[in-house]
Amino acid sequence: MSDWRTNDRNGLMEKLVTYGHLIPSGERGVYGRGSICEAIYSRVDALLTHLTLEDEPEILRFPPVVPRRLLDKVGYTWNFPDLCGAIVSIKPDETQRIKSSLDEGASLVFEQTSLALLPAACFPAYPAIAARGALAIGGSTLDLGATCVYRNEPSDDPARLQVFHQRELVRMGSETQVLSWRERWMERAAVIYDQFQLNATFAVATDPFFGRGGLLLARNQRDALMKYEAVVPIAGKISDLAISSFNYHRDQMGKTFGLNCVDGSVAHTACVGFGLERIVISLFDRHGCDVRGWPVNVCRVLNLEGVCA
Ligand SMILES: [Zn+2]
Repeated sequence: MSDWRTNDRNGLMEKLVTYGHLIPSGERGVYGRGSICEAIYSRVDALLTHLTLEDEPEILRFPPVVPRRLLDKVGYTWNFPDLCGAIVSIKPDETQRIKSSLDEGASLVFEQTSLALLPAACFPAYPAIAARGALAIGGSTLDLGATCVYRNEPSDDPARLQVFHQRELVRMGSETQVLSWRERWMERAAVIYDQFQLNATFAVATDPFFGRGGLLLARNQRDALMKYEAVVPIAGKISDLAISSFNYHRDQMGKTFGLNCVDGSVAHTACVGFGLERIVISLFDRHGCDVRGWPVNVCRVLNLEGVCA
């Protein structure tokens, strides 16, 4: 372990910025990625792509904005209004009037559009697949790629960014299909985090995610084992950073979006999400900001030999 290791997340942030891995934007929690950071980020993403191949997923990509009504429908705006990022603008036919009022010293007032920034990568997938009709016998498996998501959480914590990328996969089908798929992904994640030497552990978590009954549901989630997280120690603390989550929604998304199996039953769904920036930051925290000192085996599994050497 490298000797620069810091005891607090702000110290870790300073190191990441000093080494050029994170590029400050001037706003808290909004960073660019430097070239070495980007190399590691893209290798982690490529490794995850390799792991998806066995599932033969359908590859879908969605934009980083969604209709705000979709967030209403899944209960996100009700449960997390403070995290939402609604998009505001000026109507095209108002432009001239606004420009002349600005000339007179008025301040610019934007109006809400019908769009919001995407807060979770899988949300657009459920209505998109439901619109096709019933699922095929084998259900559906989706690779949604590395989607850019936003949460209004200004912070100096390098592990809590406002804008970040979730590498997300979704499974839709029967309860058995969905749960066995989630189990397989937990096994795969355990293997790669072991190869990264990140000391990840898996813990049951809660996530008050669904509709107005969300908080009540959250209390039952631990019992129902609906959400697991892979957590790693970071900045000298023990196991307090979630780097991926493995979520079982039961038939909640199926009911919300009218998503059915071929036999007419309501589909069950699960998603797995890998926080790409968090994984990369955990690697820097664990092995040091100077990648030349990284363990050879970690460089090899990430195909980083040219960068580490
Ligand atoms: Zn998801």
